[in-house]
Amino acid sequence: MVVVERRKRKGPILTPSSLPCLGSMPTINITEGCAHNCAYCYTQGYRDYPGRGRVILFDNIPELVRAELHRKRKMPRRVYFSPSSDAFQPLPEVLDVTFETMSALLARGVEVAFLTKGIVNERFGALFAKSPASVYAQIGITTTSQRLCGMLETGAASPAQRLQVIEGLRQIGLTVRARLDPLIPGLTDTADNLRPLLAELSQRGVQSIAASYLFLRPPFAQRLSEQLELALGSDSAVGTWSWQSFADGVGGGQMIGPEERRSRFDWLGCLAAEYGIDVHVCACKNAYLAAGSDCQIAGPPMEAQLGHNAPLFDGLV
Ligand code: SF4
Repeated sequence: MVVVERRKRKGPILTPSSLPCLGSMPTINITEGCAHNCAYCYTQGYRDYPGRGRVILFDNIPELVRAELHRKRKMPRRVYFSPSSDAFQPLPEVLDVTFETMSALLARGVEVAFLTKGIVNERFGALFAKSPASVYAQIGITTTSQRLCGMLETGAASPAQRLQVIEGLRQIGLTVRARLDPLIPGLTDTADNLRPLLAELSQRGVQSIAASYLFLRPPFAQRLSEQLELALGSDSAVGTWSWQSFADGVGGGQMIGPEERRSRFDWLGCLAAEYGIDVHVCACKNAYLAAGSDCQIAGPPMEAQLGHNAPLFDGLV
């Protein structure tokens, strides 16, 4: 049961992101909190995280976006949804706000990029079909196992539903990538788990995936650890590595060490190649390993068209 609380957003919406992987692209979070309730969700450590089972919906975002676009002399090229939530949560009121916001952007020629673990329904399919070249989708998926998914991502779409989303979006002409993030060592990065997933992706024409490993932060480390132990027991492969042996990562979090990660990514690259799939490593979380790599979380890079460091939009006028 998820409680939705409506609020009004204040201030500008189309502001540049400070996240390095998104460049200076504007990003929109339709909500604070997320009904997908992933056990590893890093937003659980955010100051404005509303708590499990509670979602704050900013229902005036479409009107704010329309007003900002109306005032701008130069449109942003592309807008990304949603760095700290998911635009496709299974909540009708959230989907309505997402739909209106994306419609407003696309109507003004602004591209839309998103990463989701939710269901992108027919209404969105019909919207995206009008301008498929303006929409960039990444579908988060690390397993075809409903059991694992139900344990790690309790409120998200099932793996089968996410594969259907990939298929449906590809059928209307979108370039769709899969995002294998976060991989959990010994659990979701095994051949037993990945081979069926890569086969399903390949069958649906996915030729490129992005990957990154679990980035562990104190606010959810305990919850995730307990959940895994409970569900998998001590004889699972997960029991062979220790949360405490993670190396220090950026921002106070922890990951498996860089050399271990390098060899696991190399192995994944070889495995995926068997299915005709390229692997792109997320450079934000793997700077040392993936310099120059682009996981295209928000679609293909735009620098070539805009000039390096060119502003994507000119701010309010
Ligand atoms: S879908 Fe993303 S934002 Fe939502 S709970 Fe999962 S990790 Fe967090």
